Amino acid sequence: MPYAYDDQNIFAKILRGEIPNNTVLETEHALAFHDIQPQAPVHVLVIPKGPYVTYDHFCNAASDAEIVDFMRCIGKVCTMLGIESDTGDKGFRAISNAGEDGVQEVPHLHVHLLGGRRMGRMVQPPRD
Ligand code: AMP
Repeated sequence: MPYAYDDQNIFAKILRGEIPNNTVLETEHALAFHDIQPQAPVHVLVIPKGPYVTYDHFCNAASDAEIVDFMRCIGKVCTMLGIESDTGDKGFRAISNAGEDGVQEVPHLHVHLLGGRRMGRMVQPPRD
C-alpha cells in the first residue's frame, strides 16, 4: 500500500515521548532535534508531527498549515544554529532520503540539515 505508515518507527516513538531526543525546536506541527550520529558539526533532523512516511507523501497529503509550519521550522533552525545562508559565508545542505532508491532508513519524513563545514559532492556513487 502506498505511503503505509509504521507507527513503531523510531521517530514516532520520539514524538510519543517513548525515547529521548536532543530537541532544538518544537513547533505546532514539527520537531527538530540533533541527529544521534552527526555527519557534520551541525546535523539536525526536522520531522513533521503527523504520520507522513516520505517527503512526497507530506507534500501530497499534509495540510497547508502543516507544510507552512514545517518549512518555517527549518528556517528558524537554520537561524538558531548559525548556518543560515543569507550572509553568503555560511550555508547548509538539506537532504530528505525517500524510499528504496533514496536509501531511507527511518520511515517517517525527516529533513537532514547539515552544516558547519563545506559539504562534499552532492551524490556519491553507490557502494552497495
Ligand atoms: P535516513 O537514512 O535518511 O532515514 O536517516 C535516518 C537518520 O536518523 C540517521 O542519520 C540516524 O543517525 C538518525 N537517527 C536514528 N535514530 C535516531 C535517534 N534516536 N535520535 C536521533 N537521530 C536518530
